[in-house]
Amino acid sequence: MIDGQPQRRKGAPVLRPSLTLGILGGGQLGRMMAMAAATLGIRTHVYAPEAESIAFEVCAEHTCAPYLDKAALKAFAERVQVVTFEFENVPTATLERLQHYAPHLRIHPSASALSITQDRINEKTFMAGLGLETAPFRAVDSLETLEEAVRAIGAPSILKTRRMGYDGKGQARIMTPHGAAEAYEAIGRQSAILEGFVSFSREVSVLCARRADGAVATYDVCENEHRNHILSRTTLPSSILPATARQAREAAIAIAGALDYVGILAVEMFVVGEGAGEHVVMNEIAPRVHNSGHWTIEGAETSQFEQHVRAVMGLPLGSTVRRGAIEMDNLLGEDMRRVPDLLETPGAHLHLYGKKLALKGRKMGHVTIVR
Ligand code: AMP
Repeated sequence: MIDGQPQRRKGAPVLRPSLTLGILGGGQLGRMMAMAAATLGIRTHVYAPEAESIAFEVCAEHTCAPYLDKAALKAFAERVQVVTFEFENVPTATLERLQHYAPHLRIHPSASALSITQDRINEKTFMAGLGLETAPFRAVDSLETLEEAVRAIGAPSILKTRRMGYDGKGQARIMTPHGAAEAYEAIGRQSAILEGFVSFSREVSVLCARRADGAVATYDVCENEHRNHILSRTTLPSSILPATARQAREAAIAIAGALDYVGILAVEMFVVGEGAGEHVVMNEIAPRVHNSGHWTIEGAETSQFEQHVRAVMGLPLGSTVRRGAIEMDNLLGEDMRRVPDLLETPGAHLHLYGKKLALKGRKMGHVTIVR
């Protein structure tokens, strides 16, 4: 330090206080990202269509407009230097329009990474193309192609809409070869993917951060329990073998590299086999910060939110070292009665997202304990 001024390594990026990061999507992920940006002195401008967006409350500026509103996108593009998203169902046309209005705008992750991960067939084909194991799958676009796919893959199997699915929405199990028509009706006769049922022992995920220059950092593998298709609890360390953990982290790095990805992504995986046969099978890629990474706020040297901001702003990535044994519980609408107790529990780090209505199954907050 000279005269209180931190010395800068030659070539290290300068953090100008006036930089504004644009965030598409106004839910809890955008909210926590905006809060992390603020700790680095970076302003955020959140763009979301819903008037009640909880990220609006913690950012410097916000725009409430539809994702394809040309005038609103143009004004937004002119006010930010970098754009990212917290929500993978942002239309790729939104990113393309922003780039058109502001050619120098840096948009991370890219529209091409987003479009691969928005479509389950493209996503699985992409992962299989990297030599990564996935469940067997077939594209479905009619009852006839579904029946053919059930004959090829067998039952039990899972029918999922190709696009816009999350937290188990748009999915139907096919338990016998005769269940095809009912499942197709249940998902609204949409374009879909049929996946063979993976008989897994555990579900895990890996968070991977990557910068434009190819620098990467992964976090420890987390073990995830779901209830009614919604993440309920994340714990670390995972009980998988070190070789399986290595395979999982390498798979996430390969995916990030092949997408030329910038930011944080999460890869959800199934653990199958035992002993020397234990390995991971890829399920899906979330091109964003992820619920199974909330533990990193208190449980890692750098939170996933700060890491994402660092990656998209071109700053050095932070350490991903874990600070202890972790338990992260999601708090859904029906869990809000736990809040008074949690407020009195030493070591319980409570996060509430400020949502007004505590509906059943709605993610209202989370709590992390680091031991
Ligand atoms: P997804 O939306 O693809 O993450 O699926 C939600 C949940 O459904 C997963 O976390 C699994 O518990 C279960 N699931 C999804 N696909 C499969 C599969 N092919 N085999 C077994 N379980 C699955």
